[in-house]
Amino acid sequence: MVHRVKRLAILGSTGSIGRQTLEVVRAFPQRFQVVALTGGRNLTLLKAQVREFKPKLISTESGAKGERMPGASHLSMEEIAAHPDVELVVVATAGKAGLGPTLAAIRAGKTVALANKEVLVMAGEIVSAEAERWGVEILPIDSEHSAIWQCLRGEERKDIARLILTASGGPFRSRTARQLAEVTPEEALRHPTWQMGTKVTIDSATLMNKGMEIIEAHWLFGVPFDRIEVVIHHQSVIHSLVEFIDGSTKAQLSFPDMRLPIQYALTYPERWEGAFRSKVDYAKIGSFNFEAVDLTRFPCLKIAREAAVKGGTYPAVLCAADEIAVELFLMKKIGFPGIADLVARTLERHNGVSQPSLEDIMAADAWARDAARAGF
Ligand code: MG
Repeated sequence: MVHRVKRLAILGSTGSIGRQTLEVVRAFPQRFQVVALTGGRNLTLLKAQVREFKPKLISTESGAKGERMPGASHLSMEEIAAHPDVELVVVATAGKAGLGPTLAAIRAGKTVALANKEVLVMAGEIVSAEAERWGVEILPIDSEHSAIWQCLRGEERKDIARLILTASGGPFRSRTARQLAEVTPEEALRHPTWQMGTKVTIDSATLMNKGMEIIEAHWLFGVPFDRIEVVIHHQSVIHSLVEFIDGSTKAQLSFPDMRLPIQYALTYPERWEGAFRSKVDYAKIGSFNFEAVDLTRFPCLKIAREAAVKGGTYPAVLCAADEIAVELFLMKKIGFPGIADLVARTLERHNGVSQPSLEDIMAADAWARDAARAGF
């Protein structure tokens, strides 16, 4: 059978999600064409990817002053995202780096597969309004949001009663407050069920990641914050649940492997034979556990929800302050509970702007980075 080839730009191809996206591409060489790759500091890996996938377009953090790679045009990430040869833009960058390219892709009418959750946390209102205006679909790669998206196929948004995001609880879910104060970066980087980048692994341990996912879900699915809940589910097999107004609930289950939600976003609206299918042995698992989040030990979830409800520039401050706090924790300048403290104190000091422009958001981001650095 002859298939149409999907033309991809992968932004952030050397990061965890970028590398796994290329694994999916490698599994379907006849069906995807990598038109563009962009990488940050890991130039060695980017070069190897360029040799293997032969993209026409590349972008590196060092830009024009960096080394040139033969056979490819060097462009900015925004130019790549809007390039006529690109059909689907995978935004696998981290932090605020994905915001400009995501907006550029939307305005050029490209489908966006979004893994960089900060894009929606920081500027969800602007990004979703632009997506609506240009008739562009944002396909989630985050596993929880992929689960909700899959559950919502064939359903109407008005029939949603609740979204229930599952959280593994991270490596410290059963630690006492006193034990949490002693946690080291090395321990925090060992996640029990998911293989992820450094920042998101720490955010999973504090549950800040789940807080940001509430905001992400709000903008992706248009559900109010008070109808988005979180439950701890240790096994990480149920990726999220949607309860409908008639009391029926749908869930999406699979082995915890990020390549599955990546593949779904890349093949949507089709499902392709799973290249990474690993059957879940339910009898072996035996039972699923659920428990409530302890907001006293994991205050980041509460802090994120409060920032979400305040809206405006507060979620951007949440992201920026958290990035600095995680950085300080990894440098052992603050302890594990210090992450939540620093983010909360930075948010308290912020004078928010409601219905912010992109400039207001970037200004809040810069303010929060300085304030968090000065405040620890
Ligand atoms: Mg997630």
